[in-house]
Amino acid sequence: MNANVNTQAPESVHCEPLEPGLYIVAVPIGNLGDITRRAVDVLQRAGIIACEDTRVTGKLLKAVEVSTRMQRYDDHASAETREWLIGRARGEAVALVSDAGTPLISDPGYRLVREAREAGVTVTTIPGACAAVAGMTLSGLPNDRFMFAGFLPVKDKARRDVLEELGGVQTTLVFYETGPRLERSLRAIADMWPAREIAVARELTKMHEECRTGTGDELAQHYAAHPPKGEIVLLIGPPVEAASTADPDELLREALLEASASKAAGKVAKLTGLDRQTLYARAVELKAEFKPQ
Ligand code: SAM
Repeated sequence: MNANVNTQAPESVHCEPLEPGLYIVAVPIGNLGDITRRAVDVLQRAGIIACEDTRVTGKLLKAVEVSTRMQRYDDHASAETREWLIGRARGEAVALVSDAGTPLISDPGYRLVREAREAGVTVTTIPGACAAVAGMTLSGLPNDRFMFAGFLPVKDKARRDVLEELGGVQTTLVFYETGPRLERSLRAIADMWPAREIAVARELTKMHEECRTGTGDELAQHYAAHPPKGEIVLLIGPPVEAASTADPDELLREALLEASASKAAGKVAKLTGLDRQTLYARAVELKAEFKPQ
């Protein structure tokens, strides 16, 4: 990275232009309060903002009182538009934003960043909200390793193919999903992996934020009865075989930190396939260990 680029958190919002370059700027995924000070600073001081939809970004800019000129840049942008933006980035700061969250994450920007780097233009990033990460943190699913795999395909066969391809990966899988497709996806997951723990993280950072966990079948039933509105991150816990190699006592101790013995036993039974009653008896013993002597 070019050491001349000012990437320090501002003490206050400056008005001098920034060093030339391409600035990848994350914006909120619903809650305006999640915009960072650096993001506002860069948007204000950039020469131009490349955005997916000028109406969507226009609203955000209005809310944060920024009046920088916008240039549409979406998945259909031509090579000429990219060349033009890269040319601009040689002489001034070009900020890249998407409608929500982090640019390039299931959003436009990959080619622009790649070509800007190839052209020797300084590229820097102003990180912030990302629905996949927010969903991961909220889900309670194992997060030592996770794999983000974008949107699940719409068509049944293509969806099954992707699930089969990723089925053996020993991590939590993270997908973007939409309300109308959720139940069908959950049913496909339930058919393939009835015991895997699933989380549906919906409307993150917004008024009706929720995160619901269960098996694919339990969640499919729930969302059949309560069709989901809004935006969704769908997470699939690691394969049960992977969890079953973990120490059940350790899993129980972790679950007991936030759940009753009965709930902890249920959770670990789902993860490991071990007998729930046996796990419950052990959970009661372990819980007694937590108590002060
Ligand atoms: N670049 C964005 C990011 O960093 O999260 C993602 C853009 S992608 C086109 C939009 C998808 O992200 C939505 O369909 C949904 O799956 C997910 N998403 C975005 N905002 C969300 C939110 N507030 N709650 C849950 N999921 C969200």
